[in-house]
Amino acid sequence: LRPEVVDLRDTLSDLTHLLNRLVGEKVTLSLRHDPMLSAIRADKRQLEQVLMNLVVNARDALPNGGDIQIITENLILTEPMQRDRAVVAPGRYVSVKVIDEGVGIPADKLQKVFEPFYTTKRTGEGTGLGLSTAYGIIKQTGGFIFADSNVGEGTCFLLLLPAHMVEEKEVPLPVEI
Ligand code: C2E
Repeated sequence: LRPEVVDLRDTLSDLTHLLNRLVGEKVTLSLRHDPMLSAIRADKRQLEQVLMNLVVNARDALPNGGDIQIITENLILTEPMQRDRAVVAPGRYVSVKVIDEGVGIPADKLQKVFEPFYTTKRTGEGTGLGLSTAYGIIKQTGGFIFADSNVGEGTCFLLLLPAHMVEEKEVPLPVEI
């Protein structure tokens, strides 16, 4: 793990070319960034893997084409947020949503998507390691990953990553002699 200060807007624009190739011609990718997006601390390569994985899953949910949206936002939690069995502590986060309007994941399967070796894909198509790997990477980064889905409407994967706060340096006052 090689954590560094990362601006997700840069990471995503560096990846755009590759992501567009991954999704193919029938699928469009739209990006929307918070203009004031905070930085995070993460292993850039691993984070790229997570984003690629989420985009490939979204693409696979769109066999007839469609749009995948990636939205970055700053999120301030003033109270603990409980979701699934996780409790997200109050603080500043960077949220990344990967949204598709695809086939959707049924509720009983949604709970299992982060488990190792779980896959909805046919044998040979997926290894089943994708989302559990993504989960592991996000946990190591101190973040969270959640999935929301409605069959026939689409799926949203949400990453919450702790914002990297720049410590304000004390600027010494000029001393007059
Ligand atoms: P769980 O998956 O059975 O994890 C139980 C505890 O094991 C976690 O407590 C955490 O302390 C540790 N743990 C599990 N996986 C990892 C990992 O990959 N890295 C690290 N460093 N620790 C790990 P915690 O965090 O209080 O979570 C409680 C339960 O909440 C988890 O049970 C899981 O069901 C859920 N949860 C936690 N984080 C997430 C998340 O990011 N997304 C989703 N969907 N569920 C989460």
